Amino acid sequence: MSELALRELHSFEAGGKEFLYLVPSAAVFELDGASSAVIQRLRQRTMSRSDLAVQLSALYPMSEVDETVAELLRVRAIGELGVPEHSAPRQMPPENFPLTTMVLNVTNQCNLSCTYCYEYGEDKIVDTENGKKAKFMSEETARESVDFMLRESGANRVAHLTFFGGETLLNFPVLKFAMRYARERAAEVGKDVDFSLTTNATLLRPEIIEFLAENRVGVTISIDGPKEMQDQFRVFSNGKGSYDIVAPKIRELLQRHRSRPIGARVTLTSQTLDIRKIFRHLTEDIGFWEVGFAPVTTSPNRKYAIADEGFDSMLGQFRALAEDFLQAALANRHHGFSNVKDTLEEIHKGVSKAYPCGAGLGLMGVSTDGDVALCHRFAGSDSHKFGTVRDGIDRLVQIGFLEKHHIDDKTDCRTCWARPLCSGGCYHEAYTRYGETSHANLHYCEWIRGWTDTCLKIYGELSVRNPRYLEQFDEKVEYEASSVS
Ligand code: SF4
Ligand code: SF4
Repeated sequence: MSELALRELHSFEAGGKEFLYLVPSAAVFELDGASSAVIQRLRQRTMSRSDLAVQLSALYPMSEVDETVAELLRVRAIGELGVPEHSAPRQMPPENFPLTTMVLNVTNQCNLSCTYCYEYGEDKIVDTENGKKAKFMSEETARESVDFMLRESGANRVAHLTFFGGETLLNFPVLKFAMRYARERAAEVGKDVDFSLTTNATLLRPEIIEFLAENRVGVTISIDGPKEMQDQFRVFSNGKGSYDIVAPKIRELLQRHRSRPIGARVTLTSQTLDIRKIFRHLTEDIGFWEVGFAPVTTSPNRKYAIADEGFDSMLGQFRALAEDFLQAALANRHHGFSNVKDTLEEIHKGVSKAYPCGAGLGLMGVSTDGDVALCHRFAGSDSHKFGTVRDGIDRLVQIGFLEKHHIDDKTDCRTCWARPLCSGGCYHEAYTRYGETSHANLHYCEWIRGWTDTCLKIYGELSVRNPRYLEQFDEKVEYEASSVS
């Protein structure tokens, strides 16, 4: 008789219950007494069904053990030894995958000189100062880009247009022009366009704020926290910190722009890692609706790079803030820690990624002169070019990229239980660290697995104690591109 063995799973406890995260299906499975007993026995050694029934006979009738085994086989928590895990054939995205989000780099110039900036700092990919790229996008290129976006959006009814830089608002005239033109053209072809932008907030003037509010533009502000943290890296070219300039402007924006929630996006470094303090300042003192954190993208030898101990500290602080999030969610209160909410949504929807993000798939970046690139962080880089807005996406280049970057080809990730949600991590991070977009981001695996485990526990706890909270994720939410950073 064949032996039974555990399949690929990650166990966790939450809300007084035991759960499994089933890696092949990316599903969360709550164990009852009998299934927990079966899993425990199989954790010790492989066993036949009849051995299991004998071992558990004092606790459960044979029929219940049989049913439990059948259920665990069905969800692929266990399998027959020697029978290879049924691995689905490699699924490639359909040809001519529609463009969901176009990130338009309306300028590659910036009025800040943030020390860690991937565009201007020591790890930059594109030479934005001396290169051949235009410093500002022209109206003509913006018009061609909008046409490109609507053409490539296929059957999607809504196209997402995100403005980006450099500092986006340095080219506000072209941004306004592109929005007006996109609205007109979209109406002609029966589509809607959702607009968003990322800005450092230094140029938010009353008339710009008015425009953003009136036009329901999604806004993400890059800001690192209270004055001492913001001014450490987010400085003007003379070294002067930007906090005193941006704080009043952001308050004014939050006061006036209420048609959409406004988020902050924080870059964490080894020197600015007090996450709770940053979160409290940005939500309670400044008034942001939500705050997302990401570690700085940099090569490891920079002194602001986060190293192993830094990732441990970051994880501990993320966990503390996630606990606050959980308490708020249990009481049906809003909590703005968007890293948790985004991951809960992915868990709830059973997301299993063949690629870490939409870059090169549904999301592409457009440089100031109309070159189309993998994403906004690669916009202007000839080696990551996917076409031009005039000639469209080079589908052969795109297919070649997607073939090469599929999770199945990331050897280190193939046995990792966190891969349905991580899938190797950001291409830009990998390129900066390892010089190769196809490399898995192995420097932060422990952090990713620790964080995913935390979010699974929060998910489990909510599913036991306040399942209605999770219902908000039942709705199919259109991909929001407003947090591009
Ligand atoms: S990068 Fe690390 S954490 Fe992410 S899927 Fe690969 S092995 Fe897992
Ligand atoms: S996760 Fe990285 S590769 Fe993906 S869109 Fe963001 S910056 Fe680009």
